[in-house]
Amino acid sequence: MEPVREIMDGRFARLVNPHARLDLLYTGCRWAEGPAYFPAHRALVWSDIPNDRMLRYDEATGQAGIFRAPAGYANGNAVDREGRLVTCEHGGRRVTRTEHDGTLTVLAERFEGRRLNSPNDLVVRADGTIYFTDPAYGIDSDYEGHKAEPEIGACHLYRLDPRTGALTIAAGDFVRPNGLAFSPDETLLYVADTGATHVEDGPRHIRRFRVAEDGGLSGGEVFAVCAAGLFDGLRLDEEGRIWTSAGDGVHCYDPDGTLLGKIHTPETVANVCFGGPKRNRLYICATTSLYAIYVSVNGARTL
Ligand code: MG
Repeated sequence: MEPVREIMDGRFARLVNPHARLDLLYTGCRWAEGPAYFPAHRALVWSDIPNDRMLRYDEATGQAGIFRAPAGYANGNAVDREGRLVTCEHGGRRVTRTEHDGTLTVLAERFEGRRLNSPNDLVVRADGTIYFTDPAYGIDSDYEGHKAEPEIGACHLYRLDPRTGALTIAAGDFVRPNGLAFSPDETLLYVADTGATHVEDGPRHIRRFRVAEDGGLSGGEVFAVCAAGLFDGLRLDEEGRIWTSAGDGVHCYDPDGTLLGKIHTPETVANVCFGGPKRNRLYICATTSLYAIYVSVNGARTL
């Protein structure tokens, strides 16, 4: 079997064991995305966007099955600090929260009276603030949602206060903002731009913002440019390294910007998520399949 790790900087050698194996946990999706790990349930929930369903992998039994279908063409998922599922839906063009009693609460669906495009991915800050991206992939065609004309005319990164419903543009200079993740101390926010899908020579990079106490963003310089396909979703480990999806697998960056190494996968990766009781199992949503690999680092507590 081909080795799954590719070392590009010597520091990567101790991050992924040479014998680490890529486990295929489930296959049969059309486009697997949006993994979110629930520590209390030892379960991973993820989305299969074109099939309009969400799936759930049970770590204790190794079984996977449908969690919700139809699922509003759900894409990105996150677990908030109360342990609730928060979801970006292409179909409803909204962000929802699944309450403990199973009911859905709509957190955001319009900005200044106009419908959002198709929320893609989100992250929840320790104080409950939600940051989500709103590219137009879910309304471009009927494949990953419902084809529609954009109402806002731009693709922004938004900041949402779920207590008041206040929605503001956190950054308005993206082409197609996509995956995002906080540094462990939440002072940095990394956001991918996959604008190359729509603009020739458009962005295929991750930007890095500084996050102020009040939630405002500054900076936003390009942190890394993808050399294989596009960056989509990403997560950080507890030492601040960036583990991001790419066309040929998972790429790992040091916070100094160095590409440390790769975990090669047989399929294009859309998103990743740390899980397991020790947060040392990296779940990988890759096109038709869910994979996982044990790594020698632990995911940041900012799930
Ligand atoms: Mg995405």
